[in-house]
Amino acid sequence: MRELRKDLVTGRWVLFNPSRLQEPRPRPGGPARTFEKCPFCPGNESLAGREIYAVRAEGSAPDGPGWSLRVVPNRVPLLGVEGHLERREQGIYDRMNGIGAHEVIIESPQHGPLSAADLARSFRAFRERCLDLRRDQRLRHLVMVRGCAGREAPALEHPYAQVLATPVVPIAARETLFGARRYFDYHERCPWCDILDFELEDRRRLILETDSFAALAPYASRAPFEILLVPREHGHDFGAAPDGVLDDLGAALERVLDLVSRALGGPPCLTFVRTAPLRERCDAEFHWHVEVVPELFADLGVERATGIPVNGTLPEEAAAYLRRLETQKKGPS
Ligand SMILES: [Zn+2]
Ligand SMILES: [Zn+2]
Repeated sequence: MRELRKDLVTGRWVLFNPSRLQEPRPRPGGPARTFEKCPFCPGNESLAGREIYAVRAEGSAPDGPGWSLRVVPNRVPLLGVEGHLERREQGIYDRMNGIGAHEVIIESPQHGPLSAADLARSFRAFRERCLDLRRDQRLRHLVMVRGCAGREAPALEHPYAQVLATPVVPIAARETLFGARRYFDYHERCPWCDILDFELEDRRRLILETDSFAALAPYASRAPFEILLVPREHGHDFGAAPDGVLDDLGAALERVLDLVSRALGGPPCLTFVRTAPLRERCDAEFHWHVEVVPELFADLGVERATGIPVNGTLPEEAAAYLRRLETQKKGPS
């Protein structure tokens, strides 16, 4: 039984899903879960599941080899697409059943780091899933998460991303939207457009620029070497991003991930694509963006207790270091 329950005080929705019990976090030094054969490699399509979307060679049949990217349902979905969304009260509380979509983007037929073109293909796939899933009126929010190998499923080295579509706007996204609206009401400008203008002028936290993006270390970075990729062109909806912008995003993210890996020795690293919540009017104040968060340290108890992240590295230092690495790569050496 999948169920969403809302915390009465904070408004935070919590997802209850018994399948989480099947995948305990591996303990350090404990036995690693291993796969006999990789479920995401070509030839094993039936293990990964029926494809919802794919990029395939002309004439290749669905659910067989010949693809460069596949989107399949998650084998252990956090939310399911079947059924009616029932939202009801339970005494003083609110609950709803766990309706939504949880999909996997298998980003390449091969293992190993992705090229700019592979990443661009993955972002185009997420755009297609956004356009398809938003037609489902029950859904309110969409996010794409790319995990580096080793983070989500330790034995699964195949590059993949996840798409989670929820019937509620998660509390963090609601806070972001609320903050953006408050900023817009006061300044009559989009906060991300202002960040972009200021950081391109100031340059201390700027890491690199491409035709369509700026990569910067956010002023109040929550984690060391956190990176924000902001499109130069304002737009609230990732689903409306043109091909050229997504190709450029693939190139920008490849450079950023390469820098993070060289700077920090390849830590687990998460990438989030943040697009505007569905069915909210926020075209002026929301600006879609991408966050890259290296996972270097476990949370401190006091961070959990207070909700205040503790970061040992100033973003100016992180950006300066990454800029130096970037020029080393380009230099004659
Ligand atoms: Zn594989
Ligand atoms: Zn903007």
